[in-house]
Amino acid sequence: MADFTGKVGLVVGVASKRSIAWAIAQATAARGARLVITHQSRFEEHVHDLSQGLEPAPLVLPCDVTSDAEMDAVFARVEQEYGGLDFLVHGPAFAPREELAAPFSNTSREGFRIALDVSAYSLIALSRRALPLMESRGGGSIVTLTYLGSDRVFANYNVMGVAKAALEASVRYLAADLGPRNIRVNAVSAGPIKTLAASGIAGFSSILDVYRQRAPLRRTVDTSEVGDTAAFLLSDAARGITGEVLFVDGGYHVTGM
Ligand code: NAD
Repeated sequence: MADFTGKVGLVVGVASKRSIAWAIAQATAARGARLVITHQSRFEEHVHDLSQGLEPAPLVLPCDVTSDAEMDAVFARVEQEYGGLDFLVHGPAFAPREELAAPFSNTSREGFRIALDVSAYSLIALSRRALPLMESRGGGSIVTLTYLGSDRVFANYNVMGVAKAALEASVRYLAADLGPRNIRVNAVSAGPIKTLAASGIAGFSSILDVYRQRAPLRRTVDTSEVGDTAAFLLSDAARGITGEVLFVDGGYHVTGM
């Protein structure tokens, strides 16, 4: 398996032990990465407690991705502590709850703005700040998390599907933009997993049932499976891969009838 010894990674998007970003933190730390983990203020205590279980101990910082000042402060601290950055994990996603139940045609201007800002624009904003720190290391790797709802209609996924489509397009444009500096940008498209973010989607359990019945592997996936794939994309083993969306969904995305 990939070796992250001597590599420094920034993980944005941990809220609980069920967070996919937490599984990526565990997968990379277990292979030797030194991590900086950020959290929204409401998860501060929990993320500090969780992080104590990681070896080596990560630096834990606040970061709301709607705040340019908080993002600036995180990267200033990473530069001060480590002088560079090797990888970035992007996990934030959010849409106001009412947008994830109402008919899609009721999507509000404000709900659309918030969903796209937090869930898609933040990848661009964080990547831009990571760029000089990765360049100083001779390159880097960025991974974000997406869902098949970017491409197909899932009940109640609504504006989050639009945000994921924007996110995946951003992966391709960032890959083209940053590739000449040896920075790779990829997404993992995870199958449905019960996390805090998923609990905001009305009827989420029935999506899990459909995957159990129809995915080629006849089961759902867990966060460790997504974490291991993300670790692969972040590692030198994936050095030839960029602009890619890699599915970890038990094969559900290939199914037709
Ligand atoms: P989660 O609730 O654990 O993670 C979502 C994260 O977004 C949280 O850490 C939260 O703090 C963060 N976040 C929201 N608004 C933010 C803001 N303004 N600033 C900073 N952070 C903010 O749930 P998760 O399922 O682990 O979600 C992680 C990613 O995986 C999301 O992009 C989600 O869309 C994606 N994903 C999830 C599933 C699933 O079924 N759970 C499937 C495919 C993709």
